[in-house]
Amino acid sequence: MTKIQNYINGKYQNPIADGWLDNYCPATGEVYGQIPDSSKEDVELAVTAAKEAFGGWSNTPIDDRSKILIKIADLIEENLEQFAEAESKDNGKPISLALSVDIPRAASNFRFFGNAITQFASESHESVGQNAINYTLRKPIGVVGCISPWNLPLYLFTWKIAPAIAAGNCVVAKPSEVTPMTAYLLGDICTKAGLPKGVLNIVHGLGTTTGQAIVEHPHIKAISFTGGTKTGAHIAKVAAPMFKKLSLELGGKNPNIIFADCDYDEMLKTTVRSSFANQGQICLCGSRIFVEKSIYEKFKTDFIKEVSKLKVSYPSDVKANLGALVSKEQSQKVLDYVEIAKNEGGKILFGGEKAEIVGFENGYYMQPTIIEVDSNKCRINQEEVFGPVVTLMSFDSEEEVLKMANDVKYGLSATLWTNDLKRTMRMTNQLETGIVWVNTWMMRDLRTPFGGVKASGVGREGGFEALRFFTEPKNVCIKY
Ligand code: NDP
Repeated sequence: MTKIQNYINGKYQNPIADGWLDNYCPATGEVYGQIPDSSKEDVELAVTAAKEAFGGWSNTPIDDRSKILIKIADLIEENLEQFAEAESKDNGKPISLALSVDIPRAASNFRFFGNAITQFASESHESVGQNAINYTLRKPIGVVGCISPWNLPLYLFTWKIAPAIAAGNCVVAKPSEVTPMTAYLLGDICTKAGLPKGVLNIVHGLGTTTGQAIVEHPHIKAISFTGGTKTGAHIAKVAAPMFKKLSLELGGKNPNIIFADCDYDEMLKTTVRSSFANQGQICLCGSRIFVEKSIYEKFKTDFIKEVSKLKVSYPSDVKANLGALVSKEQSQKVLDYVEIAKNEGGKILFGGEKAEIVGFENGYYMQPTIIEVDSNKCRINQEEVFGPVVTLMSFDSEEEVLKMANDVKYGLSATLWTNDLKRTMRMTNQLETGIVWVNTWMMRDLRTPFGGVKASGVGREGGFEALRFFTEPKNVCIKY
């Protein structure tokens, strides 16, 4: 049985009240560890450590900060297998995915922001004719809170922490209570890389207690949160009267729009991935597939054929395409949505049920599921499922599909498959999302702004956007 601890002021320590939570292994459904059930007092300890570290860290030369971040990246890479195994066991994702995507990208986050901070510049404005010059300072905020979800645990955790500390802040961070393991391992890596104590503090526990204490804390000046829209709305309500800076990366219900003139084979291969990667538990998955009528029947047949080849298996099976869903609750939620879809008249074209894996009967496995629907208004097309479930619908015209794509409360990402340049320009302009992929999916360049509109969030992360979020601009005007 593994027992993990909080990482506060550079040291691993037990929660003050000695409260613990069970950690489940999604592959087997068994408890395999315990994690701190941290209270307000633990968060207080973390904030105190962060406040004490801030003076030193914010005055550390940028080159020195940069070197430490890059060292953290190197150490994550050196321990790739240990991290990937922990991530896969904790989350249920296939080990191949943790090895090729989650952990390498977590290392990239530190390397990227370690480099980006050396290039981050502010502006100056000469007030011509007035003998004055204005320049903008970009000061770190102080103590900031980073709260992340369970689907891409270390990847999204570091996506926040790396820019926050690169910019000179000190951090109190909470990973999802469902997937705490890799965040726990990160503490040791930070110590080895020479990150001064108190710069990063990792507190484990429930969202409603530990997370809430971070959001409520008067000395935490900014919150970067990734998670569900409902939680995001709650956090905004708590933080707004305290005038905290907020970055909210929330849910999605992303359209995948396929026109007949696309590169068909490439589209088909990528659509299988954009539907079911990470068991469909990626906020960017294209869960609403719209296909132009002339190729709808062909696509339906080919898609079902390709999806039927996917292997659902235990996470450490190197041949697994889909592993386990993250938790019993999440698995039940996804199965409930399949029932809702059926009751609304949706037709199950593939899957729709639990997957039975020999030797892992109590794990949270589910078949990749394709549901044909005839209206975009149905709940399965309007609400975020966050599992291996996609819907199929045909469309006749560009206007019709654009209307359906936008007719949803979310606005995170969209994928468009076409070779028509004029259509591409029209559609990309009008899609109400923060990100549009054309003829690809989830191709990431860390310099680009990342985030959504409508109920998918507020603000952007990535590149200089993240460094702007984690700094406060101060204008200085000098008359001469
Ligand atoms: P939740 O909103 O349930 O939780 C996210 C994090 O917030 C967890 O660490 C959680 O802790 C914590 N939390 C919960 N309640 C509170 C609270 N009152 N105050 C402070 N923190 C709290 O989301 P999930 O973990 O279920 O993640 C799935 C969601 O994340 C999906 O909606 C998905 O779309 C979204 N997401 C968005 C992305 C984006 O970039 N837009 C990327 C990835 C996911 P605990 O786990 O302990 O409850």
